[in-house]
Amino acid sequence: MTSNTKSALLVMGYEVVIGFETHAQLSTCSKIFSRASTAFGAEPNTQACAVDLALPGTLPVMNKGAVERAIEFGLAIGAHIAPRSIFARKNYFYPDLPKGYQISQFEIPVVQGGAVEFFLETGKGADVTREKKSVRLVRAHLEEDAGKSLHEDFVGQTGIDLNRAGTPLLEIVTEPDMRSSAEAVAYAKELHKIVTWIGICDGNMQEGSFRCDANVSVRKPGQPLGTRREIKNLNSFKFMQQAIDYEVRWQIEQIEDGHSIEQATVLFNPDTGETRAMRTKEDAADYRYFPDPDLPPLCISEQWIEQIRGLMAELPRVMATRFMRDYALPEYDATQLTQSKAIAAYFETSAQLSGQPKLASNWIMGEVSRRLNADDRGIAAAPVQPAQLGALISRIADNTISNSAARQVFDALWSGEGQEVDAVIEAKGLKQMNDAGALEKIVDDVIATNAKNVAEYKSGNEKALNALVGQIMKASKGKANPQQVNDLLRSKLA
Ligand code: ADP
Ligand code: MG
Repeated sequence: MTSNTKSALLVMGYEVVIGFETHAQLSTCSKIFSRASTAFGAEPNTQACAVDLALPGTLPVMNKGAVERAIEFGLAIGAHIAPRSIFARKNYFYPDLPKGYQISQFEIPVVQGGAVEFFLETGKGADVTREKKSVRLVRAHLEEDAGKSLHEDFVGQTGIDLNRAGTPLLEIVTEPDMRSSAEAVAYAKELHKIVTWIGICDGNMQEGSFRCDANVSVRKPGQPLGTRREIKNLNSFKFMQQAIDYEVRWQIEQIEDGHSIEQATVLFNPDTGETRAMRTKEDAADYRYFPDPDLPPLCISEQWIEQIRGLMAELPRVMATRFMRDYALPEYDATQLTQSKAIAAYFETSAQLSGQPKLASNWIMGEVSRRLNADDRGIAAAPVQPAQLGALISRIADNTISNSAARQVFDALWSGEGQEVDAVIEAKGLKQMNDAGALEKIVDDVIATNAKNVAEYKSGNEKALNALVGQIMKASKGKANPQQVNDLLRSKLA
């Protein structure tokens, strides 16, 4: 087992066990076995061709782009790409499934093994702790999506929209490695980052392009795995956390009341915050899986894999390692700065322009992300360009301005009050005093007029020095360099 099992995190004396199945819609233009469009939001049944409608005599043809995306995913998470995988029919009846079966992969999936690594952050502020986690993947397989039942527009009837039928999906399945709802959400966020980073999925959760099923069970520490219930179709990180927390409490209460948990598929209702059983869970046998005779085995050559590997952009983990090496950043910084390609590019520009990678990192993880969160926008919409941040950091590094002055400049840039860093510094009169003579005069004046503090400092009270520094900063209208003031004072009072 992974390190996850070592840190027993208990809820009312129970250990929580979570495994995820995620459906990522692959970003191909056409469907997995037909040429119909996958674009979202079209009029019902305008994007379903004869293959998607399962008309007699039609045959599926594998979409090469979907396979390439599965390979890219496998490479991104360090998995084995099966040289030969098999499509299988998963049989069940549902009105939105015209064939009466879904084409999926069963015994031999295209992507096998691999792991998703991330930091799990707990606590807040000064008490924050970060633990590195690794969730193992069992597999990722290719399959087609079903259509949709429409209940809203019809009274006493259900409409069927088959536009989604045949949309390519990658179903990504983890081992039951997660031990808390927070860890599950952190995993889902990391997985979302990976699929959007490599561009195999648009990641739009509202439109259902990335939806998670959370398998949840509880057990007393040291016991075998408990019976799981599967919460279907979680399409927001917030609901994910709420649904799992509710489910855990519900299961513990059932067990404490002497009931046993029955394996089931449940739905989360965001309005009530509760999960409710939809159906008792089918077993694999109920689906009567068998290899699809209409599709040949999916054969992937070593050459094809290498060709795809060669075309892939630098992966977040590889980029983070490079940031640690080339910019001497701590692992945490490097991980945070590679949350998206846009953040990474923003960092690299400001770090290179200023020559101060650690300062750039601090500003991006601090002030920049704080402002972005407050305005609820992404880095692409940041009003301060990376070149501006780079220029600002250069002025801190060469002692032109203090940190607090830099924040004022940043505010001016952010609000659009100013554009050019040096011009803002000039206009606001924020330049630090570099005139040693003028500073010395202020220091002498303050020493002369604050005899009491001077005497206290000389008799060993370190705090008295702060009072003097404060006076000097005030007299310099905040433009003195605090370090310089400190040094000068100490040498004069020594
Ligand atoms: P199925 O294919 O029937 O859904 P799997 O064995 O493939 O079942 O498991 C599906 C998911 O459920 C996987 O992510 C797995 O890690 C998770 N899982 C299996 N057993 C448990 C358990 N006892 N508690 C929590 N999750 C579990
Ligand atoms: Mg399953």
